[in-house]
Amino acid sequence: LIYIVGNGIAGLSAAIALRRAGYDVTVITKGSRGGSSFISKGGIAAATSIDDSPQLHAEDTLKVGDGLCDMEAVRYFTSEAPVIIGELTKMGFKFDSDLRLEGGHSRRRVHHKADETGRVLTEFLLRRAVELGINIAEDELVALQVKDGIVRGFTTRNHGTMGNVDYLVLATGGYAYLWQYTSNPPTNTGDGIAIAFRVGAVASDMEFVQFHPTITTLDGETMLLTETLRGEGARVVNEFGERFAFKYHERGELAPRDVLSRTIYMELMNGHRVYMDLSSIEDFERKFPGVSDFLRRHRLSSKDRVPIYPGAHFTIGGLRVNVRGETNIRGLYAIGEVADTGLHGANRLASNSLLEALVMGFNLPRYLGEPWDGPRLDDGSLVTVKLRDHGPIMGIDEVRRVNWEYVGILRSGDGLRKAVELYERVNTTINSRESNAVLVSYLTAYVALLRTESRGTHYRVDYPDKDINWRRRIYLGVIS
Ligand code: FAD
Repeated sequence: LIYIVGNGIAGLSAAIALRRAGYDVTVITKGSRGGSSFISKGGIAAATSIDDSPQLHAEDTLKVGDGLCDMEAVRYFTSEAPVIIGELTKMGFKFDSDLRLEGGHSRRRVHHKADETGRVLTEFLLRRAVELGINIAEDELVALQVKDGIVRGFTTRNHGTMGNVDYLVLATGGYAYLWQYTSNPPTNTGDGIAIAFRVGAVASDMEFVQFHPTITTLDGETMLLTETLRGEGARVVNEFGERFAFKYHERGELAPRDVLSRTIYMELMNGHRVYMDLSSIEDFERKFPGVSDFLRRHRLSSKDRVPIYPGAHFTIGGLRVNVRGETNIRGLYAIGEVADTGLHGANRLASNSLLEALVMGFNLPRYLGEPWDGPRLDDGSLVTVKLRDHGPIMGIDEVRRVNWEYVGILRSGDGLRKAVELYERVNTTINSRESNAVLVSYLTAYVALLRTESRGTHYRVDYPDKDINWRRRIYLGVIS
């Protein structure tokens, strides 16, 4: 029996593939709809058109990754991408016939279902999982048991401890909900990373958090205004209707995600209000039915200006794994956003994360039972931290405030030190959602302080340039 924790696109694709390969699978999840997967928008990158190739896809990934991509991971995922699109199509999933272009891609290669790829694909996979008789239980992983470097069991909130586990697959998603402004759902608080880290799993790239420039919240409902809107002509303006993005980058609204996030952030910090103007997009309702519905629900249309802000969107770091999903703990896999294969380097190419989640999930049965390789840790240095087993706890809202203020879009040594000091006072050994949130935030702030340069998504106002000596990864381990 194999347990999978998380029913996003990574967990569901692993469950389906393992079941079809004859394994008994149970999926445990704390949120029945799945985390980020359900609300993901743009689509899945894969080089399937005649003028494209996995090599071009790899080159684009490397360029955006800003010197820190793992070459093996880039080669693997970009060449598996067309296979996975073929596999989904064979299963009956119908992508729209056109391919979309997103920032950083040199070709149209984003496979999508209107502007609701994540919802439609998650529902499709859920239906398949149910047809295959896969048991999906609502529960919450709270701890892992590891002995001699091998996973032996796990504990959930409702069912206590389960021993004699051969394989456990973590598909618990990322932790971008832990910033006050975010595109992520409340399920994504870094549980899997914190729980595995406490028992010896190595984490990496935790300083790299991708912020998305264009998120909106209307009457309490949050929606990511997808990149393709700007590709189709949407403008970013302030309260005077001024397209201020050109002051910061020659490509204006089409500047890279991290640059536009910083631009909008600074405009807001300077006391302005920022909006997306959708009025110049032709055929809006047909192209963007999801956004149209959302606007209608809030009594707006594409003729109105929509207030926007930047927010945490995707956490590049996570549990260090090889492309098979093997952590350094035997029997413990991590797949999807909870994992860090090195595919994204210091910045993620748009639509590469659903791809990574799908490939890792669907390919898992290939590797089960093979000798355990675990991840290579030879392209950086290992930093170890001791966890505090006493002291107060900190609530999630406070964590979100601290991260936004000190570990956000513009970082500084002083701010990061402040965050580290605050987190070092807190007990990070308790098996709770709050303690997990503090632990992953602490790791993020800790390595963000160490990395005295700006690279990819990590921007330090006190070190605004890239430093060749920092072209290496920071691995994190726990001192037990
Ligand atoms: P998730 O889908 O986040 O699922 C995690 C699951 O783990 C959830 O079911 C959660 O309930 C469960 N879980 C967490 N902790 C526990 C616990 N302790 N116990 C039990 N269960 C637990 N990427 C792209 O490539 N293309 C896009 O167009 C795109 N658009 C996006 C739009 C938005 C608004 C967002 C937020 C993200 C987007 N992304 C996109 C990123 C992408 O959606 C995610 O990286 C991907 O969906 C992650 O999938 P996952 O299965 O790893 O995790």
